[in-house]
Amino acid sequence: MTKPTLAIVGRPNVGKSTIFNRIAGERISIVEDEPGVTRDRIYAQGEWLGREFNIIDTGGIEMSDEPFMEQIKHQAEIAIEESDVILLIVSGREGVTDADEYVSRILYKSDKPVILVVNKVDNPEMRSDIYEFYSLGLGDPFPVSGAHGIGLGDVLDEACQNFGIEEQEEEDDIIRFSLIGRPNVGKSSLINALLGEDRVIVSNVAGTTRDAIDTSFVSASGQEFIMIDTAGMRKKGKVYENTEKYSMMRSLRAIERSDVALVVLNAEEGIREYDKRIAGFAHEAGKAIIIVVNKWDTLEKDNHTMKEFEEDIRSEFRYLDYAPIMYVSAKTKQRLHLLPEMIEEVSQNQTLRIPSSVLNDVIMDAVAINPTPTDKGKRLKIFYATQVAIKPPTFVVFVNEEELMHFSYARFLENQIRKAFVFEGTPIRIIARRRK
Ligand code: GDP
Ligand code: GDP
Repeated sequence: MTKPTLAIVGRPNVGKSTIFNRIAGERISIVEDEPGVTRDRIYAQGEWLGREFNIIDTGGIEMSDEPFMEQIKHQAEIAIEESDVILLIVSGREGVTDADEYVSRILYKSDKPVILVVNKVDNPEMRSDIYEFYSLGLGDPFPVSGAHGIGLGDVLDEACQNFGIEEQEEEDDIIRFSLIGRPNVGKSSLINALLGEDRVIVSNVAGTTRDAIDTSFVSASGQEFIMIDTAGMRKKGKVYENTEKYSMMRSLRAIERSDVALVVLNAEEGIREYDKRIAGFAHEAGKAIIIVVNKWDTLEKDNHTMKEFEEDIRSEFRYLDYAPIMYVSAKTKQRLHLLPEMIEEVSQNQTLRIPSSVLNDVIMDAVAINPTPTDKGKRLKIFYATQVAIKPPTFVVFVNEEELMHFSYARFLENQIRKAFVFEGTPIRIIARRRK
């Protein structure tokens, strides 16, 4: 869960997003099929020689109308705060600029390892252009061409060396959760209200790699929780903390470290594109999900309000039909006391293991109700199914031919499994595999 993080910094147009996309590679995604989503991607997973890491393009976190130098400064600050290793990108075509020097000074003062990457060195003759960058005082410059994918291997080798030893995951019974959502939906207020409940014993857990502070508490039922800090949450104030991009990046990082993600919506404002994207990420990451509609106190309600809201949620978040919805108010504390219990429940469902014999009964019954599909005269045959993982529960179905398992049939099997067992709040995965 605690993968190291690489941040990309540099003035506009040096090639940050080109390099980001090269390192992050392509990722196929079922909820990212809307235009514009991949274009402004700023946070992704990368992998180099078996080592996994996260990568942030700080250039994608726009600070709207701030002066140029201020924006660059904030991006450097975000990199220092969020990452383990920083790539400072400069351009071999333009040489050293004032902005490069300015960013270098900020980065130099932090104790984070900085790798100086000279981009746009598209051919060997240009390699002599890199020497002037020694003046930035950040050590050896690495010549690369993001556009042609040249030289990035050396950069990633260097980055991996700076990541240090891989941390081993410890198994425990603590439930890790986070509140994710747009700025101002009420995440901090919810946290404060939750932690302010009687009988909740609170302590701070120092972040392992960064200065982020997670909060540990024990609920009335005796269950231990760790609330992952989505930051900006506990110590608000910086300009960029209220931008959607920054909030999105923080949310993605929090999701990654959580078992359960509470997707917080603002009842007053309804559902926005951002909400769908963030929920989509949690779903794809296999996290248990609860949809929390906050500021419920602000609505003029009648008998239909809750039902109408639910209908909206169900039609906007189609792939989240398994997620329970809670209507709460951080202000009046309405229904807040039910939240820890609900988190505990979905977390249990996420770790449920179904014995193969019972599972196969359900699958065979399913096939009897709704025969397997055929394609070009060939019928899908299901031989056997078994659960291979939890968090999220993952089922492998052994078949004659993988391609015959259409999305709609997998969906049908998922629904039958959901009818037979309690998987409320957790995504489940079904993987078809050819029997050898
Ligand atoms: P950002 O603003 O730092 O994210 O920069 P972009 O990645 O958007 O790139 C800015 C411009 O530089 C684009 O027109 C890219 O095509 C171009 N560019 C990026 N990498 C290279 C490279 O290695 N060589 C050359 N010649 N152009 C590049
Ligand atoms: P965050 O940016 O998501 O952490 O949101 P905050 O917790 O800072 O809340 C944003 C604003 O919404 C603040 O002015 C809060 O007082 C207000 N707020 C939060 N929760 C509620 C609620 O349940 N009801 C009402 N009426 N206002 C709320």
